[in-house]
Amino acid sequence: MLPLVTIPNPSLRQPSQPVSLPLTQDVKDFIKDMVVAMIEYDGVGLAAPQVGRNINIIVINTEEAPTVYINPVVKKTSWRKDKQEEGCLSVPGVFGVVRRPIIVTVEYNDLEGNLISEELNSFLARVFQHEVDHLNGILFTDKVLEITKGADLLEQYLKK
Ligand code: ZN
Repeated sequence: MLPLVTIPNPSLRQPSQPVSLPLTQDVKDFIKDMVVAMIEYDGVGLAAPQVGRNINIIVINTEEAPTVYINPVVKKTSWRKDKQEEGCLSVPGVFGVVRRPIIVTVEYNDLEGNLISEELNSFLARVFQHEVDHLNGILFTDKVLEITKGADLLEQYLKK
C-alpha cells in the first residue's frame, strides 16, 4: 500500500509536474496503486503528491466508479460559490468550511490520452478543485473559513 504523505511534509507544498502521454507502464501501475489507496484510506479523492509523487494525477471516487484525471486543470469557474465542510487524508482529523465555485469547466487527459473538457458541478466540482489544489501545493487549510473539528490537531501539525 502506498503510504500517505501528511502535513507538515514539505512535498505537499511542491508544485507537481505534467505527466507525458502515452502513459508509461510505471505511471499506469502507480495509478492503479492510487485507486487502491484511495479506497483503502476511504477518501473521496486523492492526488499523487499525497502518496509520494509530485506528478499531475488525481483520482476521484465518483458515484459510478473511481475516475482518473491526468494533467487536470480548472479552466473556468462559476461566479456562484458555496460553503461546505472539507477534510483531507493529508491533514488527519481536521475539518473546516471552504468556499468554492459551484460549477467548474475542467480539462484533463483520460487514461488513453484523450483530452477531455467537461463541466462539473456541486460535490464533484468541489472534490476536483480540492485535488487540483494539491497539485499546486495548496491545502484546504490554506483556504478554510472556519475549522469545525481538530483545530488543536492543526496547531500541532503546524508547530512541527
Ligand atoms: Zn486533500
